[in-house]
Amino acid sequence: MSTGVNVEGYVHSVESCGAVDGPGLRFVVFLSGCHLRCLYCHNPDTWHMKDAKKTDVAHLVSEINLYANYLKRTGGGVTATGGEPLSQPEFVTALFQGCKELGLHTALDTNGYLGENASQELLDATDLVMLDIKDFRPEPYKKLTGVELAPTLRFAEKLSEMGKTTWLRYVLVPGYTDDLNSIAELAAYAAKLKMAKVEVLPFHKMGEHKWEAMKLPYALKAVEPPEPELTAHVKEIFVSHGLKTV
Ligand code: SF4
Repeated sequence: MSTGVNVEGYVHSVESCGAVDGPGLRFVVFLSGCHLRCLYCHNPDTWHMKDAKKTDVAHLVSEINLYANYLKRTGGGVTATGGEPLSQPEFVTALFQGCKELGLHTALDTNGYLGENASQELLDATDLVMLDIKDFRPEPYKKLTGVELAPTLRFAEKLSEMGKTTWLRYVLVPGYTDDLNSIAELAAYAAKLKMAKVEVLPFHKMGEHKWEAMKLPYALKAVEPPEPELTAHVKEIFVSHGLKTV
């Protein structure tokens, strides 16, 4: 590998055979560090870099190489997620450049808040951005995540101007992100930006035990996953704006 040999980053964990974070089967790299505090976060154990293992990118790319042929056969590749991968932009740049040298597809799963950290170099090595817009209303977004919505929208617009393939990810949380008018506005926005696909992800509670283990109060204890009919209806809203959903 000719790039990024000395770049070190804080990696929480890896999964060699992920099936839900992008096309095909994926080698998924969970990076530590996140500025958001989403009430439903499934991975609060990735919030702080200090809890992670320092990893050399060249070492990680050698590990990925062991799976490269297999990943390629499935139409898959490598996904950087977290935490928030853009909290470690140099590491992601070197990681993705290494993956491109192996001929692998690369996907960046991001909340977009640190979109300004994504350099041209990083984006050139990124085939797909999976962008979480967690709510399309600034105030509810802030209540849900602890930060402002505007930087994420700026990043979405930049990706669109560049013509970068972007999937929208939307976590549907009853009582929080199920306002149908706001979802319709988001759908119109995603269509205007020519987003390639929308993933509507029903809220679930699989991360709750991590909050308990970390002795953090979990605000969504009483919230249940959305009814399948509601999820289907929300998908239809996106489809009615000409978007593909999964
Ligand atoms: S952006 Fe992701 S990792 Fe960060 S708090 Fe929200 S759900 Fe958790």
